[in-house]
Amino acid sequence: MPDIGFDSPQSLGLHHNEGGEPVEHVLVLNADLGPLHRVSLRHAIRMLCRQVAVVHEAEPDIRLGIWPLPRVVRLVQYVVTRWRYTGGPSWSRPGVMARDGRRCGYCGGVATTVDHILPRARGGKNTWLNTVAACGGCNQRKGDRTPAEARMPLRTTPHAPTWAALATR
Ligand SMILES: [Zn+2]
Repeated sequence: MPDIGFDSPQSLGLHHNEGGEPVEHVLVLNADLGPLHRVSLRHAIRMLCRQVAVVHEAEPDIRLGIWPLPRVVRLVQYVVTRWRYTGGPSWSRPGVMARDGRRCGYCGGVATTVDHILPRARGGKNTWLNTVAACGGCNQRKGDRTPAEARMPLRTTPHAPTWAALATR
């Protein structure tokens, strides 16, 4: 990707490249002001709409709806960048719920809990591959057993989500 100077006319985002997609030129800063990456203007606006980012620097004379045209946006919440480059986000309960779409891994009902496939009491860890969203009933029924022992086969195979997959939820 060619480097686009922030002072060049191209950095206004009012042109498109040959593919018709906006050139990625809005710089995204972490909450601590560390630069992360560049995104398209459209993507930056989406971040503003979702209130995950705020305008940090803008074209003073150009407005885009309620926002000044952003040249630099800043994340509202700090992102540990290590996650982005070493195989995706760290495990978290909300992350498991988002990954599984809040569906129980055993019955497909609405999940309210996170189940450890190999129970914690037996050494099961908090990892993406060892946890699955579950409804309260299935979680209780399974208890301290594995799915095989409980004869409760998983509907899907747990996987480690990408950072982007979680971010869009
Ligand atoms: Zn269930």
